[in-house]
Amino acid sequence: MTEAKLIWMDGKFVDWHDAKVHVLSHTLHYGNGAIEGTKAYKTHDGRCAIFKLKEHTKRLINSSKMTLIEVPFTEKELCDAQVELLQKNELNEGAYIRPLVYLGYGVMGLYHKEAPVNVSISAWEWGAYLGEEGMKKGVRVKIASMTRTPNTSGMGKAKAVANYLNSQMAKFEAVEAGYDEALLRDDQGYIAEASGACFFIVRDGVIVTPPNDNSLESITQATVIDLAKDLGYIVERRRITREEIYIADEAFFTGTAVEVTPIREVDCRVIGAGERGPITEKLQSGYFDIVQGRNEKYAKHLTYIN
Ligand code: PMP
Repeated sequence: MTEAKLIWMDGKFVDWHDAKVHVLSHTLHYGNGAIEGTKAYKTHDGRCAIFKLKEHTKRLINSSKMTLIEVPFTEKELCDAQVELLQKNELNEGAYIRPLVYLGYGVMGLYHKEAPVNVSISAWEWGAYLGEEGMKKGVRVKIASMTRTPNTSGMGKAKAVANYLNSQMAKFEAVEAGYDEALLRDDQGYIAEASGACFFIVRDGVIVTPPNDNSLESITQATVIDLAKDLGYIVERRRITREEIYIADEAFFTGTAVEVTPIREVDCRVIGAGERGPITEKLQSGYFDIVQGRNEKYAKHLTYIN
């Protein structure tokens, strides 16, 4: 991680190294909090813009609501804070932004109604999440032994801190087994999503991605679906089983951090030609056009910081 200068904490900018919490902070013990992952890009005209800032900030507030946390800032205050944070840190080349809503110090025990709600926003420069080579050649994926927490036991549509234990177990297992990323199934065996991204396949020219029955309502997935439709592709939202992936022509991940990352192998089966597929490549470059301000139709989703 490349350190930046300042972190926003509850309305104040503090030095990166002073952005600390008490060891008895509630979230550290019981895991209830909400995060976002938002990205800013250097645009084609040399400026810098945050992509879909409002959508991410709204989701942070919604995730918190789902997990019974009332955020003590408005959507506008949080949006303004993110812009100001990038400006103060002079992150003009682009940045990953990580807002966090967490329960602070003062209350122990599970019942959290009286626990203080704190908010921090950090931002730093972050390269390709699954590596530059993965963006060009595709990554290798393993279906995780653990399923995604079922809807009867968790809140998969919240970008809740607690959900990332499930993701972390799957990711660790995949990486230790020599893969780049894990794909999690739901409790009925259908593909839910990756540890931190959404999943797509291409079969006979048709793009397929699961509905968000047991996954985050992903902002990048929605963007890529819109883009695919702009380019004239048919997009189906339907369930996918593991064996259908093995015979897909192409597969790829979408997410704020992974952007559009091709998949070249799943569980030792080569996908398509074993490289970035042609439709994946079109969507990948189309996505970069959008976030870098080269696609007028999506200009309204860019919040410039300079
Ligand atoms: N699923 C999970 C579990 C994630 O962590 C992410 C990354 N936020 C995604 C999907 C993709 O969501 P988005 O496109 O909104 O970043």
